[in-house]
Amino acid sequence: MDCEQVIRLLWTWLDRELEVEVSQEVEEHVRACLRCKEHADFERRLREIIQTCCKKDKAPAGLRARLLALLAESSHGGDALSGH
Ligand SMILES: [Zn+2]
Repeated sequence: MDCEQVIRLLWTWLDRELEVEVSQEVEEHVRACLRCKEHADFERRLREIIQTCCKKDKAPAGLRARLLALLAESSHGGDALSGH
């Protein structure tokens, strides 16, 4: 499995909706590949934020889109998120 495949499967993987064998392949790759690990960490955090927001007060679609854009931005340029 290469990085491209892993990244394409990330959301499904985080949803735990992959077949066990595929899921294990993704997991092994993410463990070994820093780039995909960072990607996975980012996606996971993003999902947590969205889930928290949505649970709390049913975040409007606009807010969710803004949040996504914001996070996408910070994942490109700096490491605003990785610095904790
Ligand atoms: Zn990779």
